[in-house]
Amino acid sequence: MKAAVYYAPGDIRVEDRPDPVPTPDNLIAEVHYCAICGTDKKLATIGDPRYPPARIVGHEMVGHLVHVGANVDGFALGERVTLATTVGCGECAYCGLGLTNMCPNSKPISQAFDGAFAERLAIPPLAIKGGNVLKVPDEVSDEVAALSEPLSCAINAQELVGVKEGDRVVIIGGGPLGALHAELAKALGAADVMISQRSEPRLSLLRRLKDVVVIDGGQEDVASVVHERTGGLGADVVIVAGPTREAYESSIYLARKGGAVSLFSSLPKDDPDVTWNSRVIHYGELRVVGASDSRPEHVAKGLRLMAAGKIDGDALITHQPPLSAIHAGLQLMIRKQCLKVLVDPLQ
Ligand SMILES: [Zn+2]
Ligand SMILES: [Zn+2]
Repeated sequence: MKAAVYYAPGDIRVEDRPDPVPTPDNLIAEVHYCAICGTDKKLATIGDPRYPPARIVGHEMVGHLVHVGANVDGFALGERVTLATTVGCGECAYCGLGLTNMCPNSKPISQAFDGAFAERLAIPPLAIKGGNVLKVPDEVSDEVAALSEPLSCAINAQELVGVKEGDRVVIIGGGPLGALHAELAKALGAADVMISQRSEPRLSLLRRLKDVVVIDGGQEDVASVVHERTGGLGADVVIVAGPTREAYESSIYLARKGGAVSLFSSLPKDDPDVTWNSRVIHYGELRVVGASDSRPEHVAKGLRLMAAGKIDGDALITHQPPLSAIHAGLQLMIRKQCLKVLVDPLQ
């Protein structure tokens, strides 16, 4: 089968690999789509030491089951599935707390196991046991279902920061995840959703989203727009979805007193420090919360929101290259010319 294989930073090759081997304990899915994640873009540029060489990468997948091991309960041939990426060990204290995304011994799909930029994907027993395999409801298309994993990461963040009905939400950074955050905030009942972005063509792509106020951060003063739209108060929730120090440092000034900030994007490992006026957080009683990755329950919630028609996946998907053209897709991500890019291994 054809697969996209990571060898070294910037070195991803589309090549022939043996088909996955069916066993009594695994599932095999024919991959219909696998979306390109920011982590894949990282592999195509600076790399990531957690990924071993010759690993098939890609994890934001939707597939149809073509093998169900004799010992696997609850799945049938032909069923459509998607995955929660991070498979907890099931034995550590964090897994015991239900925080499998914090598991120090986790085995993520596409890191510890081969991933889904391939015609077929073997789903390992540990992922099945961990509840990481989720069935796609009939109402959700293959294309939109491929967004359920990145959406799940946004769901984890918005649950932690507490987005609720009537909130006024600002998202700093209009990349694929920022756009997903905007759709999610609307789905959770936010009354006003604003997203700031600096560059074209992403500004134009964001304008495809309905009922989202797109702020051109290159031309407009984001703080002024936010304060104007919130009667001078500031936002109930601010989500940092752009990995820059400026985004971090500006976030606390966009929130109202008693509001909350989600640090969703991470800063680079070698440049993580920020400077904050602690008095803004202290006197403003701000909650500043982190968010990392997601768990199966977040993917399940994403699928429910999609099935209810609350996420406009079609507005979020801007490109669908075949697997043989994955490098063109990665370039779109690197050049910030897309929202979500879905790789199609069967085309
Ligand atoms: Zn991802
Ligand atoms: Zn664990």
